[in-house]
Amino acid sequence: GKPRVAIVYGGKSAEYEVSLQTAYSVINAINKEKYEVIPVHITNAGRWLEGKPVAGHLEYKEQLLLDENRVATSSNEWLTPSTITSAKSKPDVVFPLLHGPNGEDGTVQGLFELLDVAYVGSGVSGSAVAMDKVLMKDIFKAHNIPQVTYMSVTKYEWHQDQHGVMDAIHSAIGFPCFVKPANLGSSIGISKSNHADDLMKSMKLAFLYDEKVVIEAAVDAREIEMGVIGNDAIEVSVAGEIIADSSFYDYEAKYKDGHTSLIIPAKLAEKTLTEVQTLAMKAFKALNCSGLSRVDCFVRKSDQKVFVNEVNTMPGFTPHSMFPLLWKNTGLEYSALIDRLIRLGIERHQERS
Ligand code: ATP
Ligand code: MG
Ligand code: MG
Ligand code: MG
Repeated sequence: GKPRVAIVYGGKSAEYEVSLQTAYSVINAINKEKYEVIPVHITNAGRWLEGKPVAGHLEYKEQLLLDENRVATSSNEWLTPSTITSAKSKPDVVFPLLHGPNGEDGTVQGLFELLDVAYVGSGVSGSAVAMDKVLMKDIFKAHNIPQVTYMSVTKYEWHQDQHGVMDAIHSAIGFPCFVKPANLGSSIGISKSNHADDLMKSMKLAFLYDEKVVIEAAVDAREIEMGVIGNDAIEVSVAGEIIADSSFYDYEAKYKDGHTSLIIPAKLAEKTLTEVQTLAMKAFKALNCSGLSRVDCFVRKSDQKVFVNEVNTMPGFTPHSMFPLLWKNTGLEYSALIDRLIRLGIERHQERS
């Protein structure tokens, strides 16, 4: 029969809602002549619910919540050893459309490794280091990838000596600076501190979401993003620019306000374009990514200097998100992109077994 693709979405993460939206788009766009599509909903409480195959079009994303009638197996049954060994229920490939901790960070990828099932996207190490902004930046540093000045603080260090930490940030980073939870996305928990007075609030906010935060120098820059796809042989998309009508590209601007413009392709000097594209591929390789990633860069307004901000191993993936739009502009439509990523996942699994 057709290859069985399990679309895993939701998850115990602050980005649960974003994931649901993504899954809705992907499930509707995926070629169902070619693939059998099985929805797997991880509730916000972390419970795995496997649904019956989706044949037609979903009318609204709430259909993905899989009420009890649609649930084919009971809680966690999909994860039991009998399922792992049962050729009957094991998917041929998993598409983990999960953002943030427990989904984009190597944990769920480790599970698929143990199950010996193919999956879309980066493996355990690539996912884990790209999710942790501190580890990511430390690797960039080792590879001479240009980035803004940063430092990290653990909750333990913070509670030991708040004033010492504030002083250290003052002298090592200065203002304005950005304070971020180390392991998250969608700008959740991120704030900009313009003065020392704001710092306490920013630190407290970031520590609501993580045990570790990163503090980095704010740069007055254009925000340029690219998609990278591939396993060993990789390709980079055209560059896109984000123009957010807010102080920075925060959660509201990403998902709610409708005032953010994505300019694709970004208007960049040839030299700058080559520079960001080369760096995007270098960052992807440095972090041991595979399948797909969106690489976010800054191009400083004063002198066009390029910095890599971060790599997202499971970027926003609705048809209106930057990553699919970048590929559309590069010549790969949404459905074709999904197909390509599924094939890359299968190929990677075959090469390794
Ligand atoms: P996502 O994964 O959704 O792209 P994220 O939560 O991982 O986001 P970042 O991309 O690191 O967070 O930062 C979110 C936004 O904050 C950036 O798109 C940018 O607008 C702003 N920002 C972050 N760091 C800096 C910086 N050092 N200087 C200037 N602006 C910054
Ligand atoms: Mg991110
Ligand atoms: Mg992210
Ligand atoms: Mg980003």
